[in-house]
Amino acid sequence: MKRLYEAPAYDTARWPDSWWRASVAAIPDHAPLPGLAETEVAIIGAGVTGLNAALELAERFGTAATVLDAGQPGWGASGRNGGFACLGGAKIDDATILARHGAEVLRAFHAFRMAGIDRVADNLDRYRIDADRQPTGEIALAHRPAAMAELDREAALLSDVLGLETERLAPEALAERGLGPSVFHGGIRIGCGFGLHPLKYVLGLAGAAIAAGVKLYGQSPVTAIRPAGNRWRLETPQGSLTADRVILATNGYTAEDIPPALAGRVLPAFSSILVTRPLTTAERSAAGWQSPLIAFDSRTLLHYFRLLPDGRFLFGMRGGLSARTGAQAAIRRMARRHLEALFPAWAHVETPYFWSGLIALTWRLAPSIAALPGRPGLFAALGYHGNGVAAGSEAGRRVARCAMGAEAAIPALLARPPARFPLAPLRRAGLGAAYLRYRLADGPVSA
Ligand SMILES: Cc1cc2nc3c(=O)[nH]c(=O)nc-3n(C[C@H](O)[C@H](O)[C@H](O)COP(=O)(O)OP(=O)(O)OC[C@H]3O[C@@H](n4cnc5c(N)ncnc54)[C@H](O)[C@@H]3O)c2cc1C
Repeated sequence: MKRLYEAPAYDTARWPDSWWRASVAAIPDHAPLPGLAETEVAIIGAGVTGLNAALELAERFGTAATVLDAGQPGWGASGRNGGFACLGGAKIDDATILARHGAEVLRAFHAFRMAGIDRVADNLDRYRIDADRQPTGEIALAHRPAAMAELDREAALLSDVLGLETERLAPEALAERGLGPSVFHGGIRIGCGFGLHPLKYVLGLAGAAIAAGVKLYGQSPVTAIRPAGNRWRLETPQGSLTADRVILATNGYTAEDIPPALAGRVLPAFSSILVTRPLTTAERSAAGWQSPLIAFDSRTLLHYFRLLPDGRFLFGMRGGLSARTGAQAAIRRMARRHLEALFPAWAHVETPYFWSGLIALTWRLAPSIAALPGRPGLFAALGYHGNGVAAGSEAGRRVARCAMGAEAAIPALLARPPARFPLAPLRRAGLGAAYLRYRLADGPVSA
């Protein structure tokens, strides 16, 4: 398989050293695909997208579905993310979508995003998944005074055009709600979204899929996808699966050549997370942070953070261009510096967990849920720009309907296959240049 980053980013023999992995008692080990097999729909990738697609196929259509993962369910981003089930999916902002495409396109995309959040909530209820769901609400924080005006505009658009409840929070209101610290210049509360334990969520989905009759194989990297008459044959090291249709649900772990039709169309990027030891009540008061709501700041290279149910603090950020040990250690140091700058009261607090994973960016800065042109029977759902817990859950459902030829109501913004990046072989260098630009524009991270 051709990959954009070094091998450690794709080492499915190892789980990331995440708090999520450490706080789940046992993870089922699914055996590899053995020998020759057939299915109606093959799904590559056992994250939230692939497993929701499998559930939709089994439950809505009674279709035989087989999921293959190079690792185990949840090994990818779905089992190692920040656990924000929230609005998202695109990197292009709502005001730009409105200006370029009009209110109808924006409303359809927003309805999809909201359906994603509802989908996660419904999955938790329906399959009785205990994933430590937190209260509803998301906080966006202004990292400098001018950013508050941008957040105000965003809040006005969300409430006036999209009918979503929002609330302006001056710095004093933040403090009253247990949303210190004072380094932020106010914020807005968005009335949807919630935190959860992402690995418990995805493992619950995998269990539900198996109970619904889905076949699921771990340690089964698909190394080739070949036409076989009017069907497709997927090769893995120990087996071969023939399918009428194939859904690619590989997001940031998409290989350059699986299938070649996706070459140069996805830009994987790192997102990384630090988790503290449990904070004492006094430590939480010292930083003024008591709220269980999910939060992020207004930087382009944003920080995202939340208090976990056992009092630990999760702190995430984007950046990094290499999976090498030294480069990952540098990102860990940078994340630690940023945590201390934004939450100086916790400068002494240990952060025993650190891990990274890959998200997927696309040239159009929006997800794709579409058939791949010129390849009848191949479909893809990917490109959530670091926000796929909710969006990927819904995209999986819709791509499954699309693969079955049923009405899928895919918003216009998402209904196209991902475009090829110009100068695709230089994507990684281009990302490095973009990070530099964003870092300069975002300004220094300081208390
Ligand atoms: C550190 C981090 C923090 C994040 N935080 C958040 C957050 O708080 N909220 C949010 O909404 N989003 C977040 N995201 C993004 C979110 O996790 C992803 O958008 C989402 O999980 C994508 O789900 P997926 O099922 O499409 O892909 P993934 O979960 O990445 O799964 C893809 C799977 O495909 C498999 N695969 C790839 N190629 C092959 C092949 N050839 N053969 C077989 N299997 C293959 C991989 O093994 C992998 O398991 C974060 C991501 C990271 C990395």
